[in-house]
Amino acid sequence: MECSDNWKEEWWSGNKEYGATWQNTLNEVVVHYENQTLWRRVIGAKYENEDSWMIKIVTTPYGISLWRSIRALWEEVKPKFKMKVGNGNKIKFWKDEWHEKGNLETLFPDIYNLAMFQQRTIAELWTPQGWNFIFRREPNDWEVMRLAEFLNLVGNFTGLQAYEDMLWWKGNNKGEFKVHSAYRLMDQSSQQSPIWPWKQIWKCRIPHKVSCFIWLLAKEAALTQDNVMKRGITLCSRCFLCGETLETVNHLFLHCKYTRQLWRIFLSLEGISWTMPRRVTEALYSWEEAGALAKDRTRWRIIPASIWWAIWKERNSRCFEGIENSVQDVKLNCILLLCFWCNQLYSNDTASIVDVLDSI
Ligand SMILES: [Zn+2]
Repeated sequence: MECSDNWKEEWWSGNKEYGATWQNTLNEVVVHYENQTLWRRVIGAKYENEDSWMIKIVTTPYGISLWRSIRALWEEVKPKFKMKVGNGNKIKFWKDEWHEKGNLETLFPDIYNLAMFQQRTIAELWTPQGWNFIFRREPNDWEVMRLAEFLNLVGNFTGLQAYEDMLWWKGNNKGEFKVHSAYRLMDQSSQQSPIWPWKQIWKCRIPHKVSCFIWLLAKEAALTQDNVMKRGITLCSRCFLCGETLETVNHLFLHCKYTRQLWRIFLSLEGISWTMPRRVTEALYSWEEAGALAKDRTRWRIIPASIWWAIWKERNSRCFEGIENSVQDVKLNCILLLCFWCNQLYSNDTASIVDVLDSI
């Protein structure tokens, strides 16, 4: 189980928008988008090619487009490639990043403005005698030094090769795209993102579906009414529990006066004062800190899950079935869930419930 938990951590913390494996699959499709294949020609005909490497951005406003998702990844994947010059037919001299120092348009914007035929490929600008640049006008005195610098930089080009231009993957020294190296590159960038409470979500002894639900809460992506409205569905968004304000993840699970009563059970039990944080992720961290003195930290960690699961069930019962339970029932339900997840038998037996609460 240890191993499987680490896997989950890497899986979920490594990315913001997609599951990493899904993203890697898409990356692979993007990378193997080869010119000569039939499917490539079909896609190219449908969406039009942007350049030799990729189709244009898919802008159709309706429906689900697999290609829209795949195409959106290109901007992310492209910087992880270098372009290796072969016969020069695909690589654009100014626009593509083929020179070891970087993109020439960015490095020399002044010379780029001076140059004609800015869209030309390397093959179109290279002759056996060397580069064949045509400029719009004679360079001014103050431009001569820059021009010399530019010519010096591109002067080390050794000529075209027989093979086609290719993409060179930076993730390994063979230049071949591999899923695991893409994963490693993604993982490096994810380490710069804010700390994610993976331990409180995945190292918590609760059913897997509840862990997934808490992950959604931490992402503020559970289907509360505000998130439903973001998907274009119009609702009169009122909290189903207090009826006082907009139903958001942070309101429903942290700040709603109804939910606070559940939090209070456990806070008073331990006699601690706790300021309710603004967000679910902060609450998970803060709860962990608050539990430093708890008798059993594993059990302490289950408490937010039992509160949130009980609240979510009550909210859905009110939303979809029109059944309203009293706050006392929801409190009891929350405590029973906690006992159940603490490996106790599911029962209404007061003695066993007291035992569990006593052990936290
Ligand atoms: Zn409320």
